[in-house]
Amino acid sequence: MSLKKINEKKYSVPTRLIYGQSPTFEWDYSHHVVPPITTSSTFSLGSAERGAKGFAEFSLPPQPDHHPIYIYDRMGEPTIDMLQHVLATAEEQECCVVFSSGMAAVQAAVCFALNPGSEIISHKTVYGCTYSLFTNQLSRMGIKVHFCDLTDANSFVPLVNENTRVLYLESPANPNLELIDTPAIVEALKKINANRAESKKILSVFDNTFATPFCQRPGKDGVDVIVHSLTKGLSGFGTVMGGAVITRQEFHKPLIIFRKDYGSILPPLNAWHILVYGIPTLCLRIPRQQANALKVAQFLESHAMVDIVRYPGMPSFPQYQLATQLLRDYDGNFAPGIMIYFRLKGEDPEQSKLVGERMMDYLADNAYAITLAVSLGQIRTLIEHPASMSHVSYPALEQISMGIDPGGIRLAVGIENPDDIICDLDSALKHAFKAG
Ligand code: PLP
Repeated sequence: MSLKKINEKKYSVPTRLIYGQSPTFEWDYSHHVVPPITTSSTFSLGSAERGAKGFAEFSLPPQPDHHPIYIYDRMGEPTIDMLQHVLATAEEQECCVVFSSGMAAVQAAVCFALNPGSEIISHKTVYGCTYSLFTNQLSRMGIKVHFCDLTDANSFVPLVNENTRVLYLESPANPNLELIDTPAIVEALKKINANRAESKKILSVFDNTFATPFCQRPGKDGVDVIVHSLTKGLSGFGTVMGGAVITRQEFHKPLIIFRKDYGSILPPLNAWHILVYGIPTLCLRIPRQQANALKVAQFLESHAMVDIVRYPGMPSFPQYQLATQLLRDYDGNFAPGIMIYFRLKGEDPEQSKLVGERMMDYLADNAYAITLAVSLGQIRTLIEHPASMSHVSYPALEQISMGIDPGGIRLAVGIENPDDIICDLDSALKHAFKAG
């Protein structure tokens, strides 16, 4: 495309300070090795006809060899489109729409298909803010959410009625790492959907944040819609927030329109971080974090003061067989992930919680290779207490029955030398029990 010719010098300096060298050949997506950072809240439409065409086309899925007409950041822009393309590739799916945070993506993934009176069935153990979205927000809008234990693949069947629109899965579940047998659930859902009208079909929505697409790609098992918090393993360095919904072409348009109307846009600069640093290093970071997680989990399991350790890569994991089936990397190798859930010894849940708190306080004050902080999937090892932090929105009296152990501790393992992580944990464990 040729650029319009402008004699910049005929304009005043104050005006030229606004426009600079614009238009310019210096934006060159075809020849920059790394995509240039671009942020422009609006785009020159060129002509009324081209502008109208852009409005007519903006919600269409990206076409190969087709130059998109960019209009306004909230409707789409180049860095976001490039990120969406690579995220769809990561999940081996047709398309992706990114959002400003993981929660914005969860909201879009469950709400884009809902109508007044629709119902959701969800696994009982999900990320705390997802639980809060379901119970504090959607319930006020007249959306009923039923919780059940989806580790039993048929448990949702009696809850299905003609208003059911979404089956919500999170696996491995945050924080207890329970696994859902996705192929079995998809099979059961297929049978139910076979007898429902198109507008009544139940969508499966799957939060794959804990595993990342490196460890599992549930779309291959027939899940309809996959959600990610990009804040976690997909961005990997802890510098930005973001979310993604990854799915089939048919859902691209309603999701893009949902994002345009609710406005939860991923800032292009955040998209650029994830595109340039996060995704390209995924297949380097996760194997290293996984190898570290196994060593750390084995250390915890061998420690006299640790009551239970859950890590899907250890044979002691209650669903180890299922883990070896579901969690596979791009080469088909077992990929049990980077997350560990454990509980310290105590005469009752309250005492386990108390020693756990002592351990985390010690780490906060003394550790170098472990940080007391929520979030996960970063190159740094992070530890937190779900019952009082990430999952505090679960009412205290219901936590145990919903899979949140008051003494449970969540550890997201980073890329450090694993001996250093173990050394910090060892000191903290000694202190927690000595101080008692
Ligand atoms: N889903 C899971 C499993 C999470 O752990 C989180 C955050 O911790 C989210 C969704 C929400 O993501 P964000 O914090 O980017 O909004």
